[in-house]
Parts: sequence; structure tokens; C-alpha cells
Amino acid sequence: MCIVKPDIHPKYFQTVAKCACGASFEIGSTRKDIHVDICSNCHPLFTGKQKLIDAEGRVQKFQKKYAGVTPKAKKPVKKKKPAAKKTAGKK
Ligand SMILES: [Zn+2]
Repeated sequence: MCIVKPDIHPKYFQTVAKCACGASFEIGSTRKDIHVDICSNCHPLFTGKQKLIDAEGRVQKFQKKYAGVTPKAKKPVKKKKPAAKKTAGKK
């Protein structure tokens, strides 16, 4: 018995989705060989750890670019003199 109209739907089958962290999940899909960058196994929301997701090497590029640059020392912030309050006559 066929529920859907024949010959217009892609084939649906069980496949394995692999994550960049190494985890794999068996899922149903119309595509083969699914690769993802992040999954529930390694996403910071689920792990509770802060992690840089750097698939394109942008962090390395940044670190390479600014390897020899040291941040300037901060200027000492001038403290504002507390405004003299006119409290004469009042208590
Ligand atoms: Zn993952």
C-alpha cells in the first residue's frame, strides 16, 4: 500500500549523521553521509563548557596576525573630583 504519491518523493532511509566531535547518530533521512559541525554531544549549551568553534581556522588566523602585537597599556583613568556639595545651612 502506498500512502504518498509515487515517484515524486526522495527515498527515505536510515543513515548515520556524523559530527566533527566524533559522535554519530543513526537517523532517518533522504540524504546519505550527513556531516555536521556541532551536535548535542558537543554543543556548549549541553556540555556547559565554553568552546571555540573554529571550522575555518579564523581564530588561528587572528592569532597569527596579531602574534607580535602587544596591547597598549591603558591610560590611567583620571579620577573626577567629587563635586563639592552645597550643604551649608541644611542638616
Ligand atoms: Zn558533536
